[in-house]
Amino acid sequence: RTGMNDIKLALLGSRGAGKSAVLVRFLTRRFIGEYASNANSLYHKRLSIDGRQLNLEVFDPCSQGSGLRCVPEEPVDWADGFVVVYNISDRASFLNAKNLLRQIREARLEPGKGEPEVPVCLLGNKQDLCHVRQVREDEGRLLAQENRCHFREVSAAESHQDISVLFTQLIRQVMEQ
Ligand code: GDP
Repeated sequence: RTGMNDIKLALLGSRGAGKSAVLVRFLTRRFIGEYASNANSLYHKRLSIDGRQLNLEVFDPCSQGSGLRCVPEEPVDWADGFVVVYNISDRASFLNAKNLLRQIREARLEPGKGEPEVPVCLLGNKQDLCHVRQVREDEGRLLAQENRCHFREVSAAESHQDISVLFTQLIRQVMEQ
């Protein structure tokens, strides 16, 4: 990517997995427990990574159930990179994440399409709820390996650091393409 300073990311995952909380954590370093997320939202931020000025745009679609149309066509085609979020205390959200990763792969990673692999990262959110965990960490790691993407368990409620590291990794990967 030469001369490209616009980076477009899309956040996907079940409603309630914590997409907005993760994004707000990354953008503002704060945790906002009840963030109004009833509308599709496009967030902008200027940031500097490795000395490059970037315009970051992040799309946080409002409603993604576990139905078949959980990846709207638009973000799948639009984004340069994806963050797929599930809640470690909600197995249904993990199954939805699996489905989303498959749909991203089908849309963007098919062999012969001539496109570079789109960078994706898988986030197991709500790590602070590990006493009511329904998805083991190694299941998340395995799913990420199968989809050749980054993986981390995080808690948007408790920490900024891990979320920041993952977003930065993903943005670097997009910049390298
Ligand atoms: P979205 O629908 O995926 O955007 O989810 P939200 O960001 O609106 O979060 C759904 C609910 O989960 C809200 O009540 C948040 O306060 C809560 N939540 C988000 N992240 C965490 C977390 O890391 N830990 C805990 N315990 N709750 C969280």
